Amino acid sequence: MADKKYLVVGAGFSGAVIARKLAEQDNQVLVIDKRNHVAGNCHTKRDSETNIMVHKYGPHIFNTNDKNVWEFINIYGNMKPFVNKVIANTEKGVFSMPMNLLTLNQFFSVKLSPSDVESFIEIKQENIPNPKNFEEQALSYLGKELYYNFFYGYTKKQWGCDPKELPASILKRLPIRFNYDDNYYNSKYQGIPENGYTEIVANILNHKNITLELGKTYDKQINSDFHHVFYSGALDEYYDYKFDRLGYRTVFFEEKITKGDYQGNAVINYCEENIPFTRIHEHKHFAPWETHEKTVVIKEFSKETKVNDEPYYPKRLNKDKEILEKYRTYAKRCKENVSFVGRLGTYRYLDMDKVIAEALAYVDYYLQNSIDKENFKGEIFSDDI
Ligand code: UDP
Repeated sequence: MADKKYLVVGAGFSGAVIARKLAEQDNQVLVIDKRNHVAGNCHTKRDSETNIMVHKYGPHIFNTNDKNVWEFINIYGNMKPFVNKVIANTEKGVFSMPMNLLTLNQFFSVKLSPSDVESFIEIKQENIPNPKNFEEQALSYLGKELYYNFFYGYTKKQWGCDPKELPASILKRLPIRFNYDDNYYNSKYQGIPENGYTEIVANILNHKNITLELGKTYDKQINSDFHHVFYSGALDEYYDYKFDRLGYRTVFFEEKITKGDYQGNAVINYCEENIPFTRIHEHKHFAPWETHEKTVVIKEFSKETKVNDEPYYPKRLNKDKEILEKYRTYAKRCKENVSFVGRLGTYRYLDMDKVIAEALAYVDYYLQNSIDKENFKGEIFSDDI
């Protein structure tokens, strides 16, 4: 089993975790990434002027219910407790997000207790028996007033399409609370790495059997030099967009440095459609254990991914799912020595913890099933197992 040569394309969490597990079994692993840093879109870097840790591709708050994943990440970096408390700036005022008792009481100018919420919301909810999309889910769950104030404009800006076209699952990411808990996540374990995500990924990759090459563009021709390839880049790009492009949203940023406290919170969402950006992040508030006089303020805008943009959010509209199916069928038919892993390789909206959990499970599965076989003939998408 040991001493095989593997290629991992992409040095984000997926690639790093897989590389590490292969390397620990005495295999030689080459990891390449076209960017000049590891950690993919989780990349963090201290700003040279302010020394503030900046999440270069947007805020990442690690949260999980998976004890194994939490233990895994804590081996490679020091996670500091952090609770994300998001503020929503809306046409009707400034509120706590996700929706909780304070949000509801302030928005509707009422004084509800936890036991009042269910019957209060029931009157607002539209009767839509099987919500089929984001809008129907929101109307049947929250009603018109909350939907239009908090979700309609923000979602249109973030996803660049009508919320009716989006899956209901996107809304289900957010809880509604019947108490005053303003934690953005429900997860049991939550935190931000003291020295950033890039250090964690670099530590995962720091193994004598791993060779890392940054700034290196992948070329399929080299597949034949390796026993197996774990590809965490975009699936459509791998096949040169043969069946058309999969839809992705990308984000871009406007950054400024100023003094003091700019907005008093790490993240403020701007829910109105006519405000061009979706949110503002102030990065020193992601590290409340540090003190900084200056502050880095970043406005986040969303747009459709074009040829040279970094893909962020898989849109998964119906037309995308049809294209995706063509790629998946084709990939399975080709039976190359390649597995498609991670958010881009499997075209799913995955959080960091899911990416790590899936990479751990997939590499285990791979190692067990490839024993004594020339080529891995099992499932080739990490979400297949
Ligand atoms: N959303 C919204 N208003 C907000 C926050 C979220 O409309 O103030 C919507 C938006 O469509 C988003 C979805 O709810 O994609 C899920 O929110 P989450 O914070 O999970 O999205 P993320 O920032 O991770 O994409």
